[in-house]
Amino acid sequence: MLLPSNATDPYQEGKALLRAGPAFFRPSSQPARDLGILAAAVYRNKMEHLRVLDVMTGCGVRSQRYVLESNADWIWANDANPDMAVVLTDNLSQLPPKRYQITYHSAEHLFHECYQHRNRFDFIDLDSFGLPTPFLQGCLQTVKLGGLLYITGTDSRTLAGHNPEHSQRLLGAWARSHPAAHEQGLRLLLGLSWQQAQALGRDIQPIFSYFQGQIYRILVQVTLPQAQNSLGFIGYCHHCGHYQTVSWMQLSRATCPYQGPPLTLSGPMWLGPLHNPTWLTSMQQLAQDWGWSDRAQLLQIMQAEALMPPYFYSVAELGRRGKMDIPKRDRMIACLQQQGYQASLTHLNAQAFKTNASFHRTLQLMSSLCIGS
Ligand SMILES: [Zn+2]
Repeated sequence: MLLPSNATDPYQEGKALLRAGPAFFRPSSQPARDLGILAAAVYRNKMEHLRVLDVMTGCGVRSQRYVLESNADWIWANDANPDMAVVLTDNLSQLPPKRYQITYHSAEHLFHECYQHRNRFDFIDLDSFGLPTPFLQGCLQTVKLGGLLYITGTDSRTLAGHNPEHSQRLLGAWARSHPAAHEQGLRLLLGLSWQQAQALGRDIQPIFSYFQGQIYRILVQVTLPQAQNSLGFIGYCHHCGHYQTVSWMQLSRATCPYQGPPLTLSGPMWLGPLHNPTWLTSMQQLAQDWGWSDRAQLLQIMQAEALMPPYFYSVAELGRRGKMDIPKRDRMIACLQQQGYQASLTHLNAQAFKTNASFHRTLQLMSSLCIGS
């Protein structure tokens, strides 16, 4: 749902009161905004300072909330569209005047100005359309070392593997379609950010990665270069449903171990952790303190999936492949855990789960459950 541009009553989200005006504002994207607010607040509590750059602020809802809820000391709200001036000035007027500034630059101009004046930020929110590739170098050069970048991808067709030529051009990866492709979208954005950071002698570590509807968001911390390289490929067998990770060294031997056909490969992409468990714990604690029980519950699921393999199994696909009735997801997870496997819910798909058991082993256990029931 988009907020109607002619709405006259102010809309409330968190502590922000706003009118959307001509901005593209989707109330249903609030969970992604809430997660950003929580992470920024955790950073502010820890570092005792928080300067935020809101590159494409739109109606300014995030800028309002970073000040009012994350306690940002100062925020630069920028939008390329000067037609936003009336509504943006009005929306941000509830903030103390010394804690924000509004400009109407293109993102390129904005980054150039920051670079010229050595203006660095603790937290940069890039709420862009399509793929964030054209803006990543600007973000990486404008964020402080140790600071956070909150990046957006909305080109779900490319991120979910339906346009590999485009993903090759903009993400440096050949992305294919498969049942866990929404997770792949997040991992492609992480892989792209890692590669772009490396080009500047920096590294990134994911704080959290979040998918909802058609929107992919990753929050990464920019660090000095680390020793590990977390880039690799995901292999999927369309014939039998098998998933596995594939390293660069294994590319020439990437066939399905069960029936032998070549695996459908996607990548390179980030195969490391999807989230940072320590950060999630702090965010979850804060969500509980603020009475945000839905977000605390979401963060609990993200915590459980943080270190799991980089794909998931949907119960519908298991049922189809195994030609059997679909067992309840919670029952499958309990069964896998009883057998000594790791298994968890995933926020990426309400009808799927993650496990370190192979797809075939999961099918076997599922059929034993069906026989036993
Ligand atoms: Zn196979």
